[in-house]
Amino acid sequence: MDNNNQDNKPEGGPKFQSYWLYAIMSLVLLALVVSSLGSGSSNEIDDARLYQMLQDKGAIEHIDLVNGRSAEIYISPEKKGDTGAYQDASQGGISGTRYDYVMPVVDASVFYSKLKEKEDNLNIPFEDRVQVKSVRRTNYIGEALQWLLPLAVIAIIWIVLMRRLGGGGGGPGGQIFNIGKSKATLFDQNSKVNITFADVAGLDEAKEEVMEVVDFLKNPKKYTALGGKIPKGVLLVGPPGTGKTLLAKAVAGEAGVPFFTMSGSDFVEMFVGVGASRVRDLFKQAREKAPCIIFIDEIDAIGRARGRNGMQGGNDERENTLNQLLVEMDGFSTDKGVILMAATNRPDVLDSALLRPGRFDRQIGIDRPDLKGREAIFKVHLKTIKTDGVTVDAFTLAEMTPGFAGAEIANICNEAALIAARRNQDSVTLVDFNYALDKAIGGLEKKNKLINPDEKEIIAYHEAGHAICGWFLEHASPLVKVTIVPRGVAALGYAQYLPKEQYITRTEQMLDMMCMTFGGRAAEQVIFGKISTGAQNDLDKVTKQAYDMITVYGMNPEVGQVSFYGMSKDAYQRPYSDETATLIDNQVRRLLDSQYMRAQELLKDKRAEVELLAKELLDKEVLSSKDLVRLIGPRPVDADKLPPVEMPGVVDNSLDSSPNGVS
Ligand code: ADP
Repeated sequence: MDNNNQDNKPEGGPKFQSYWLYAIMSLVLLALVVSSLGSGSSNEIDDARLYQMLQDKGAIEHIDLVNGRSAEIYISPEKKGDTGAYQDASQGGISGTRYDYVMPVVDASVFYSKLKEKEDNLNIPFEDRVQVKSVRRTNYIGEALQWLLPLAVIAIIWIVLMRRLGGGGGGPGGQIFNIGKSKATLFDQNSKVNITFADVAGLDEAKEEVMEVVDFLKNPKKYTALGGKIPKGVLLVGPPGTGKTLLAKAVAGEAGVPFFTMSGSDFVEMFVGVGASRVRDLFKQAREKAPCIIFIDEIDAIGRARGRNGMQGGNDERENTLNQLLVEMDGFSTDKGVILMAATNRPDVLDSALLRPGRFDRQIGIDRPDLKGREAIFKVHLKTIKTDGVTVDAFTLAEMTPGFAGAEIANICNEAALIAARRNQDSVTLVDFNYALDKAIGGLEKKNKLINPDEKEIIAYHEAGHAICGWFLEHASPLVKVTIVPRGVAALGYAQYLPKEQYITRTEQMLDMMCMTFGGRAAEQVIFGKISTGAQNDLDKVTKQAYDMITVYGMNPEVGQVSFYGMSKDAYQRPYSDETATLIDNQVRRLLDSQYMRAQELLKDKRAEVELLAKELLDKEVLSSKDLVRLIGPRPVDADKLPPVEMPGVVDNSLDSSPNGVS
């Protein structure tokens, strides 16, 4: 798409001209310096030549001793005409003086005494001796240059520096004087956005909401006639890659009105006051082009709550920018037809003043797509890809990608096409999609990574431990596949599960997931009696999960129904006492220990299955859930057969609470 800046200067135009200007300026300066330094240096003679000239009686008409620094020797006209001895006489000097020869003088008195000594030696009578005049001559140009040159150098450095700071030449903001101008990109009739609602898959409710915005802009009368007010701002909230920017672009494409787009960070500059000035400029431009839409991506860069970080001191510049934004949003009336859209994935950090009705009246939540949504997104992105039409279908792919956002889906489609091309196929098959998916989840496959057999065995048992735990725990997500092919930077193997599409997680699900994550280390302990560093990632995950259960979801009766979500956890600002901190730490440890023990118990019980699976893994490297059914039978889902889930610290503690810690 065309990047249509307000003043359509050709890119690099001003840069070209100014560089020529600099080049010419420096050349002129250089020439001046050289000529001033070089003046009179031609036709220079030494002592011996002067002595010769003195011997030639009447040859030297007179000598000018200029500023006591150089002796200019003038030959009498008859001598010059007579003999060829003075043919090399020059006529020079930038001041226009016409001397014939010049001789540098270090000390005037020495020059005088030497001359006298030579004339004495030659017995020249007093009246015939050479006349020496002392002359004072001022070189105005040279002196002017002496103080102009440093000034010029400083000026050039300053200009160059300012251009650099301004973000390079060309375009608005390129020069220091444009720094307060908004950097918004404008899409209008000349540079049309060719994204429409058809390109945005799923997100039906969100689309409906924004379609209304488009309608407001197209026929505002319809709404205002009934006394309704057109909303000023629409905030799109959702995780990264879910299509917020895409939706905003589609609004622009559909509305057919000018669309200014800018990222929150574009307001930020190293100079104070620039952010506020850019906000002013953006709204000024928008008012001129009304009806139009302003879109600010990642608005949290400027819209963060003010004065929150009291300890570190406020960020005045950002606050000024935000204040200006608030003022501008109050300032424009919607009958002008300017609607502000913004996107963020951190609505929790936004300033409440920004979110109140009258500013962002509408907040549209955009979540990761569900199965149907993913299928629709796959359909959009499969359109541009040449698939085999048999194995690849959007629904299958959607089933394989739970929790994936639109951007990840777009990426997988692209990767699959690249993989197929690398293999010189003429169409993309499901196998390519599988590879792309593995790459997205686990990183690049490293078939050639050398792993010694001992290590490989540990990895196989570790992954088998995960798989077996997942298989027999009722609330764990079902296994998709387990592999010991090394991938990515650190992963030596992994077990992939299919998470349920759900919005809340129950305690027993969290506990089962923790137990399953411990399955790897537990298997190492049960089988080899030793543990390894291979479980670091698992431990990291369960520790975070345990802290979340206790301090965020209030799932521990000892610590109580509290949530410290979003509150600082550092020692100075945490909202609880040292005793609570200790209690939390102890409870976390207890919880982790109990799940680790549980995993070990389970694996001791299922040792035969673990061995079977690990051996098969060593042999085949990749096992799917079908292989597991073949090896160890179908997954038991009957809860009665399973050991009860226990929450530590609860069983002997409270009569009211249920065994798993939730009341
Ligand atoms: P963000 O929410 O971070 O602004 P984007 O809108 O930039 O995400 O999405 C990035 C890319 O992901 C888009 O360019 C598009 O290719 C793809 N994408 C995301 N959501 C969808 C969707 N609902 N339909 C089609 N493509 C999507």
